[in-house]
Amino acid sequence: MSVRGPMAASTSAATGAPLLTLTGATVRFGDVTALRDIDLALARGERLALVGANGAGKTTLLRLLHGFVRHEGARTLHGAPPSVVMVFQRPFMLRLTVRANLRLALALRGVPGPERARRADAALARVGLAEVGARLATTLSGGQQQRLALARAWALRPDLLLLDEPTASLDPGAKRDVESLIERIADDGVTVVMSTHNLGQAKRLARRMAYLDAGRLLVDLPVERFFNDPLPEAAAHFLKGELVWH
Ligand code: ATP
Repeated sequence: MSVRGPMAASTSAATGAPLLTLTGATVRFGDVTALRDIDLALARGERLALVGANGAGKTTLLRLLHGFVRHEGARTLHGAPPSVVMVFQRPFMLRLTVRANLRLALALRGVPGPERARRADAALARVGLAEVGARLATTLSGGQQQRLALARAWALRPDLLLLDEPTASLDPGAKRDVESLIERIADDGVTVVMSTHNLGQAKRLARRMAYLDAGRLLVDLPVERFFNDPLPEAAAHFLKGELVWH
């Protein structure tokens, strides 16, 4: 049991039906406890940003939500298992064309052939990459690769999109492009959970904020309250810290 629970809103920030709940979830890697006794309820349509210092457990929490990490406690799905896609800071691209990278991802998810081509082209057009469809994906710029990763995620039509510092290595222009894509994906009704070191970005994109400190979920609040309410000292200190705001 945790020493004390997170500072949480009395009414849930949930916007839809329950999707996934973590109850007393703990993740250990050998001697390291990456997450401690996490309680988190995620509803469909939410936009949750995870913030916290390096090593606080953000990536591990994303992986746990994905279902790819051994844990103690419960990870409960509500209804049919959701389709989940995770996008990383540096997207993984095969040495294939942009279009082939997309089609392959769709093939691996069992999307039939003609549908694959249609969805891949629509996704490329949506992210503004239609003109580079025949280029090798590995030759795209960092910003273009991240847009391609989001196109791939979008084409897979996930219920839950997990983003691990999706703009960390991008210049301001590319960052804006990726943010606006994330916004459009969320507007499509996809539940989005993202980690970020950029509080301005969290404020722009999220409706709910969770602050992790050494593996504990210390604060879990709607975004306006996170930035306006008095927070526990560690979180307040973090907010005043050296984090990026733009
Ligand atoms: P950052 O902001 O630096 O990305 P984070 O908040 O995402 O950090 P995690 O990557 O989740 O933090 O790591 C949480 C803790 O778990 C850290 O102490 C990390 O070293 C440890 N950890 C994470 N993955 C592993 C692993 N596969 N094996 C051992 N330790 C791990």
